[in-house]
Amino acid sequence: MKTVHRLERPGCGCGENEVGDGLLSLDEALARIARKSVAVEEVETVPLQHARGRVLAEPVVSATLSPPFDNAAMDGYALAASALEGEGPWVLPVGDCIAAGHAPGGAVRRGSAVQVLTGAPLPQGADTVVMQEHVLREGDRMVLRHRPDVGTHIRPAGEDMVPGQVIVGAGTRLGPREIAAAAAAGAGSLRVRRKLRVVILATGDELRPVGDPLAVAHIWDVNSPMLAAAIAAQDVEVTVSRHEGDALGPLRARLSCLSETADIIVTSGGVSAGAADLVRPAIASLGGETFFSGVAIKPGKPLTFGRLGKAFWLGLPGNPLAAFTTWMLFGNRLLECLAGISTQRVLRRHVVAGTMLRHKPGRCELRLARLAGFDGLGREVIMCPDVTNSARVSLLPLADGLVLFPADVESVSEGDLLEFVQFFEN
Ligand code: AMP
Ligand code: MG
Repeated sequence: MKTVHRLERPGCGCGENEVGDGLLSLDEALARIARKSVAVEEVETVPLQHARGRVLAEPVVSATLSPPFDNAAMDGYALAASALEGEGPWVLPVGDCIAAGHAPGGAVRRGSAVQVLTGAPLPQGADTVVMQEHVLREGDRMVLRHRPDVGTHIRPAGEDMVPGQVIVGAGTRLGPREIAAAAAAGAGSLRVRRKLRVVILATGDELRPVGDPLAVAHIWDVNSPMLAAAIAAQDVEVTVSRHEGDALGPLRARLSCLSETADIIVTSGGVSAGAADLVRPAIASLGGETFFSGVAIKPGKPLTFGRLGKAFWLGLPGNPLAAFTTWMLFGNRLLECLAGISTQRVLRRHVVAGTMLRHKPGRCELRLARLAGFDGLGREVIMCPDVTNSARVSLLPLADGLVLFPADVESVSEGDLLEFVQFFEN
């Protein structure tokens, strides 16, 4: 098997920092986003049932022992195994039945048993629970054939959590698993960072809202609904600003206005070097900063990142496929940074090519790819078109993610390793 590129480090192996033409490598661009962005400071309290998708600002700490008391892990009989004399079988009188949610009437006496249902508090004196399937019940007595081990089928108090234990760390995005743990820890409400305010502004004289009639030279604005859907998340308030044409004055005015309230302005189009590419000049004329402009990737080369007032600005290319892939890679990273997420999702992994694929050396290429099962060695296989047509949005619904072709690779053989970035929906 030929290995296309190193496995011992992340990234596509397309160079370290500047890779010529003033372009940054993919990894350096990601690193710069992380370095420049600052998490929002404001924190709010939300009830647990509204916490899904929010980012914890303070850790969830267990308030009590969990479980709070020793209890039965099975339907069965609580008894003192250590008090059973001689060799069995033993015939034991059976007392009351304790169900979950009910306090025991009293201690279990030596040489007798108490019926317990799963979750019932263990009566005092009992040191084991025998499964009901393992005894013979005869009226108010039961026959026990084998000596049970002490401690069996008992969930001891605090076996899961103890008071003061950190159950979910700050900076975690809360999903069902974290919410389960928080509930068990007794956290009825949680301290989370405030929602991020993201505004989308598509630019281009040719754009018309989707569904409007198109005159000559007009196209529908794909990026606004696409980005709104890609950005939508429980911890984000997304606004779509009406698209803007290619004229400096109005663009300037709109950006200035949006920068007053947004945490992130996501523009699409108008960031290349053409005469109608006015987003960068507009930001500059408003006193905004550009942290980088240009990444050595294809599609997505014009990607620009900067700041205007308090708002961060991500300038995506206009081509919808380029806008989508750059949002997926860089926009999501920016969101995570501003949201204060401490552990990033691991979305990059190695897969193998299902067929021979060609690549024009130059820039690192992000090609749409579909997961197509596993090969005989258990490695995940991807299939993708032999060439990329970055203007074809129709291929997006068929793709599971992007496969990265290192800049200097001319072709990839079937079975070669490639880096894959999985798409995800929040
Ligand atoms: P630009 O980056 O502005 O040079 O745009 C690159 C290409 O993407 C052009 O063909 C534009 O017409 C197209 N484009 C720009 N914005 C959008 C959009 N919002 N929806 C669909 N296509 C767009
Ligand atoms: Mg344009």
